[in-house]
Amino acid sequence: MRAILVEQGGGPEVLAVRELSDPVPEYGEVLVRVRAAGVNRRDVWARRGQFGIPASGLVPGSDAAGDITAVGPGVVGWQVGDRVVVYPATSCARCESCRLGRTNACTVFSPASGAYAELMAVPVSRLAAMPSGITFEEAATIGVPYLTAEEAWIRAEARPGQVAVIWGATGGLGVAAVQLARLRGLRVLAVTRDEDKAERLQREGAQETLLWDGKGSLVAEVERRTGGLGADAVLDPLGAATFGQSVAMARRGGVVVAVGATTGSRAELELREVFTKRLTLVGAFLGGAGLLPRLLGLFSRGGLTPVIDRALPLDEAAEAHRLLESGQVFGNLVLTP
Ligand SMILES: [Zn+2]
Repeated sequence: MRAILVEQGGGPEVLAVRELSDPVPEYGEVLVRVRAAGVNRRDVWARRGQFGIPASGLVPGSDAAGDITAVGPGVVGWQVGDRVVVYPATSCARCESCRLGRTNACTVFSPASGAYAELMAVPVSRLAAMPSGITFEEAATIGVPYLTAEEAWIRAEARPGQVAVIWGATGGLGVAAVQLARLRGLRVLAVTRDEDKAERLQREGAQETLLWDGKGSLVAEVERRTGGLGADAVLDPLGAATFGQSVAMARRGGVVVAVGATTGSRAELELREVFTKRLTLVGAFLGGAGLLPRLLGLFSRGGLTPVIDRALPLDEAAEAHRLLESGQVFGNLVLTP
């Protein structure tokens, strides 16, 4: 099979297509022909060898959608030809958290790799049926972005009528967060650095957009738009550059959700704001495997449509990473092996 193999961590140019031997499904696994693979920020970290993700010998990619081409021994309930979405992480599949579908609470939970390839051997615990009415490209963008965004709103206990600020709103995670916030009846203030993208954000469900130059503070602007109160929930995938502001713009009793660290992993914040405003700081890291079928149901009923910036062939994985890192992408990028 053809696959992207990173032999040594580095820039986008290390994403080279190689001919690898076809994987063989073991006990409890199926072989999935990948029709589309989502491109996520984690794939960039993996490519660089950042955050303890070993780059060498890695086939990147966590999100995939495709069809089953072979079934390993011991597999019940899945057949050749079934269209599937691959859950983007692995866990022990035995502990209580795993049995309840809260796989991201498992002690050995870890985002998975291997989607930038024509074939993947996948344990059935990571399969979900692909809804009808959506394309493989769309299905491949649901895992990491929507699981993370939905988990963030669950962790924030977000309720209808509350005000949510979403940093990085034009990225894959950001657009997913805007759409899911609209479904929850939140009033969304979406932050973008690009005035041209404001209208598109409003189409996806942001009532208001805030323009950010990458340096200045939006705290006063959020206060102004919320009658001096601040936001009930702030979703922060950016980290170092914004987390201090996220804490400052949260209202009394509000929640700040850390969902990433695109601008760096060490943040400065005013602890006095945390205790005097009785803030809750939480993290969201993907969502449990039990959440995926529930999310997929939202797409099958036509309630949500993923936003795909563009689909590129597998050979252009390097270009996909360049685009992602340039910040020019609106929504998601996918690779089609
Ligand atoms: Zn487990």
